[in-house]
Amino acid sequence: MKITDVKAVYPSWKKKGTGAWQEYYWQIVVRIETDAGVVGYGYGGGGEPGKLIVNGHLRDALLGRTIGHVDDIRDIWDHLYTKSLPYGRGGIVIMALSGIDLALWDLLGKAEGQPVYELIGGLKKKTVRAYATGGDPARVRDLGYTAVKCSHRWREDADFDGAAARAARCREMFGRDALLMFDCYMSWDAGVALRMRELLGEYEPFWFEDLITPDHLDELARLRPRLAPVLLAGGEHDFSHHAFGAIARAGALDLWQPDITWCGGITAGLRILELARAHDVSVCPHRGGEIWGLHLVAATDCLDLAETHPGRWHDPEDMILLDEPVVSAGEIAPPNRPGFGVTLKPAYV
Ligand SMILES: [Mg+2]
Repeated sequence: MKITDVKAVYPSWKKKGTGAWQEYYWQIVVRIETDAGVVGYGYGGGGEPGKLIVNGHLRDALLGRTIGHVDDIRDIWDHLYTKSLPYGRGGIVIMALSGIDLALWDLLGKAEGQPVYELIGGLKKKTVRAYATGGDPARVRDLGYTAVKCSHRWREDADFDGAAARAARCREMFGRDALLMFDCYMSWDAGVALRMRELLGEYEPFWFEDLITPDHLDELARLRPRLAPVLLAGGEHDFSHHAFGAIARAGALDLWQPDITWCGGITAGLRILELARAHDVSVCPHRGGEIWGLHLVAATDCLDLAETHPGRWHDPEDMILLDEPVVSAGEIAPPNRPGFGVTLKPAYV
């Protein structure tokens, strides 16, 4: 098949007025068409600038390329990465490239009548244990979740008590066997983390995520052994196997969390997994319960754990897929349909 058209669309996400970056550069939809009439859809990041990058330079670099095998997707990824390297290598460019990569996986799956997880090597997990980030705790419990993550921002000393109170409440609601994680969104520092490790120890947190900014790999590496047995997790702000190579060399993290719609798609995800195996690190993708990451999680040795946001996108205006899988009895699974197996709302097709 030859690629005959490439087009990115930026859905009109509802602004919540918080000033957060996601309100400016959130997810884009990429559509790729071939001369065989097969169309693939992917999900990338970068908002309007991401859309411009796909519809400009990357589109021109893609038109006429051949796709018929998984290796072709890898070659196209390398081609686009190299073409965009002077202004890319990370950030919005790789977020945009992720959408192209995922559209190519969807396209190839549809052409072969296979789910994306089959192209990756077949299901290794029939269902994946879901974990909840946010959402009403009582509803989360009723949905059968056995793993929850608290979003925590440290601003002042009172936040130590706040974190301990939340951990106690989670243990009360979800029991001793549930997994309990903390996402600090770069608001802690080494001192806060060590104090939290002491304070929260009795609640046995599984991981602390995104502790400080990803520019401080050596500091993370020094801190990591001092937080054990709590795992130090991160990586949602890192791009491609190149950035994860630096994380590996520094020994900065116990658990990697690439975002498949930002880090370079499934192609980058597979390379990051290869690197993780070589360094004996676990991988649990950011937003791994969304369809784009879920196929990778189910088909590989990623942790049996997928992030979902039960409270986030329930507003119909913020939903772009009609039939994304949902959590049932605390588990989630990719659909057995060609490609990613999801249907976009007609407005984005
Ligand atoms: Mg996070």
